Amino acid sequence: MSHETALAEIRAALGGKGLVEGEDLAPFAQDIRGAYKGEALIVARPQSTEEVAAVVRICAKHGLKIVSQGGNTGLCGGAVPRGGAPSVILSLARMNKILSVDPDRYTVTAEAGVILQSIHDAAADVNRAFSMDWGARGSATVGGGISTNAGGINVLRFGNTRDQVLGIEAVLPDGRIWNGLRALRKDSSGYDLKHLFIGAEGTLGVVTKAVLKLHPRPAYEQSMWASVTELDRLMELFVLARSVASEGLTAFELVPGYTYEKALAQYPVLTRPVQTKAEWYVIVRFSGQQPVSDKFETFFEQAMEAGLLTDGALAQNVAQENNIWNLRDEIPPLKLMKSKMLKWDASVPIDRIVPFLGEAQRRATAIRDDLRVIAFGHVGDGNLHMSIFPEGGQPGDAAFDALCKRIVSEIDQLIWSYGGSICAEHGVGVENYERVNGQKDPIEFEMMAGIRRLFDPQGLFNPGKMFDPERYLPHAAE
Ligand SMILES: Cc1cc2nc3c(=O)[nH]c(=O)nc-3n(C[C@H](O)[C@H](O)[C@H](O)COP(=O)(O)OP(=O)(O)OC[C@H]3O[C@@H](n4cnc5c(N)ncnc54)[C@H](O)[C@@H]3O)c2cc1C
Repeated sequence: MSHETALAEIRAALGGKGLVEGEDLAPFAQDIRGAYKGEALIVARPQSTEEVAAVVRICAKHGLKIVSQGGNTGLCGGAVPRGGAPSVILSLARMNKILSVDPDRYTVTAEAGVILQSIHDAAADVNRAFSMDWGARGSATVGGGISTNAGGINVLRFGNTRDQVLGIEAVLPDGRIWNGLRALRKDSSGYDLKHLFIGAEGTLGVVTKAVLKLHPRPAYEQSMWASVTELDRLMELFVLARSVASEGLTAFELVPGYTYEKALAQYPVLTRPVQTKAEWYVIVRFSGQQPVSDKFETFFEQAMEAGLLTDGALAQNVAQENNIWNLRDEIPPLKLMKSKMLKWDASVPIDRIVPFLGEAQRRATAIRDDLRVIAFGHVGDGNLHMSIFPEGGQPGDAAFDALCKRIVSEIDQLIWSYGGSICAEHGVGVENYERVNGQKDPIEFEMMAGIRRLFDPQGLFNPGKMFDPERYLPHAAE
């Protein structure tokens, strides 16, 4: 079936700069890792909310699917079309204006396509801090962060993206514009609908603008790189850091020695913060309006006395601070190793992280004795980025491929048995589309399906992502 009429209408609505067609659209139709590839008729790049609404109305009229896309840095395949249905990728990249920075209100209002780093810079200019921060800060957008309820390195202190959003503007699946762009900290006037769009992964409409919180800029912020004596006592270390710094503990990240050594070998520009080698390290960051070095002294002394650490180094200047956080950005195993691997973005209650990891390694070894479990990340939030791969493995390990289904199933079950989630902060997308069904009571999916159907009765927005509404509301399909 030809879609020329619809495409002509989109071209007329947006003009030349607002479109990507033909061969040029390939990079938009696959995710950042090349793991998911799709097909699209066109990439529409509107420059205003009204243009977004116009494109949505055209798609709704002609029955074209709509896949919203920000920086395309998502790790679950949510921002590329799935299946053969005729689709339009709606890129927010040209909606990239910061509309206002309000230091007295502690807010910033931005279009959905604004890149996180730009907001960090704008906040710094008025002596404020912005908390949405993770490895993809140079390309991930406000709209993508909101739509995946992204986490990152500041969750321990400020919460997820959900906790940063005061108001949003969105284009609904029928093309109407909902202006919920409020800057209120308090508003108990009924259902708080913005929360439906946060973490909706583009299934309920297009987020076009947002009012986000800013925070007091800490006058002092320092990070320590420390070698952990034994992983079993990680929680004692975390509790100590919290008791010393209280709210001033703003990051607590776990680093495996295994990938740390590989990152050092691969990126010679990175240097060892401490010379002694360990199996596990932590990065601890304290922030505050008073110097934090005294607190670090107390923390380090007490941790050494209790035998929780074997070594540690406090960053003394910007270069050392950057080195620590650059190391943190480079440790994901997927970036460093050739072998095929399975990965989880899991969360478990924080006090269960260590027993969970031990059990995951035991289960993996029981399946195949060379399987290695590596985890890193925001353990202060109970969040583990975990990979399982054959030690020394190569891409073409057919025996490993044959075991993947079993490993995934056993580890998912294990995560749930620990009261955890297989989608901690990256979302569901395509990656967890089937598996997520095992995580919640069907009644929860039924409510979600009802909401999805209410907003998008034609099923045009990001089909094949997050969950299948038909599975839970089979009779309302037409
Ligand atoms: C190196 C690296 C490190 C990362 N670290 C973290 C981390 O620590 N924590 C974390 O949570 N994530 C992390 N991520 C994942 C990713 O950056 C986040 O999921 C981010 O929120 C995606 O933003 P984006 O603009 O790239 O969105 P995209 O990838 O373009 O889209 C993501 C999803 O949101 C939808 N969407 C995008 N924009 C809109 C919109 N305006 N309206 C409606 N729906 C929309 C898409 O359809 C898709 O479903 C990391 C990614 C990389 C590459």
